[in-house]
Amino acid sequence: MSGKGFELYIHIPFCVRKCLYCDFLSFPADDAVKEKYVEALCEEILCAGEERHGASLSSVFIGGGTPSILPGKAIRRIMECVKEAFDVEEDAEITIECNPGTVCEENLRIYAECGINRISLGLQSADDIELKRLGRIHTFDDFVKSYEMAVSAGISNINVDLMSDIPGQTLSSWENTLRKVCSLEPAPAHISAYSLIVEEGTPFWDMQEEGKLDIPEEDTDREMYHMTSRILSEYGYARYEISNYAQPGYECRHNVGYWTGIPYYGAGLDAASYYDHARYVNTDDMDSYLRDPAACHFLTERLCTDDLMSEFMILGLRMTKGVSFAEFQSRFGISLKEKYGHQAEGFIKDGLLEEKGDFLRLTDRGLDLANVVMRSFI
Ligand code: SF4
Repeated sequence: MSGKGFELYIHIPFCVRKCLYCDFLSFPADDAVKEKYVEALCEEILCAGEERHGASLSSVFIGGGTPSILPGKAIRRIMECVKEAFDVEEDAEITIECNPGTVCEENLRIYAECGINRISLGLQSADDIELKRLGRIHTFDDFVKSYEMAVSAGISNINVDLMSDIPGQTLSSWENTLRKVCSLEPAPAHISAYSLIVEEGTPFWDMQEEGKLDIPEEDTDREMYHMTSRILSEYGYARYEISNYAQPGYECRHNVGYWTGIPYYGAGLDAASYYDHARYVNTDDMDSYLRDPAACHFLTERLCTDDLMSEFMILGLRMTKGVSFAEFQSRFGISLKEKYGHQAEGFIKDGLLEEKGDFLRLTDRGLDLANVVMRSFI
């Protein structure tokens, strides 16, 4: 592994309570468990730094769960360990995920002091009834207060997470959410807009099975998707990935790293890693993790060249600029056309892919059928 361009993800699995659609590894916990977890996390990060020879980090992402549920001093301690274990590049993007209702001025001040320069705020909807249906713990006003506090603390690089296909949501309520968020002062640098996916094992799944979940029809879902890109572009956002939009220069470096194959280490419960052409996953058992965090990191898969080429295509095509022919050639020593020309030509004929300079990318129609295109590169 080269020392350059390595990413670190840190998982904080705690939440105030579970949202009704959530299948992430997250749960409420008492202060004692949180404290022990932070200590275990620090041990794992220090150990990972030793194994990765203090690799140079281009981004750090503290995600969850709800990282902002931890006391500010816990985040400070985690960041101190990160800096001790790794060489954090001077201009590294350092993000923390926060949920409205768990954000305070004191913690934001600490985040800024320890180098956190980006906040990702989980809003989902500007409609309080929709928020309630999702089981969120906050209102739109709570979000606005958190947003303003973050800006006052000097962290103005803010992402807002939004969700379409919420039960009972209409085209006009989705438009209202988009416009309210874009009209914040200052406007968010980045917006992620995902559709709700009803996952097995969640209360929403059970409600759907019982026919009690009123989610928008597929046609409405598609209209919402197109509306998102249209409205966000009115406010100066460009779509750079299927579900991600940014003001110029504010694309999320951490996620772009995932989509372009930058290696990363995931610390914490159930966190995934990818480096040296292999995938790893940490245990999802809290007791084991607290007992010996450094022994809870397991190899799950070694990737052969064919796997790496397939991943290059599938992840790279998520981005609107697409995949670079030159980059493919330089990474794999074979031309993209030689390897995937047959599939690519078929999709170009069908109007789902197009060549633009050195890039092969999805067309607008291809973005709608991205799954079909990507499946063919597996
Ligand atoms: S805040 Fe996020 S991680 Fe926590 S329960 Fe809700 S959706 Fe899941």
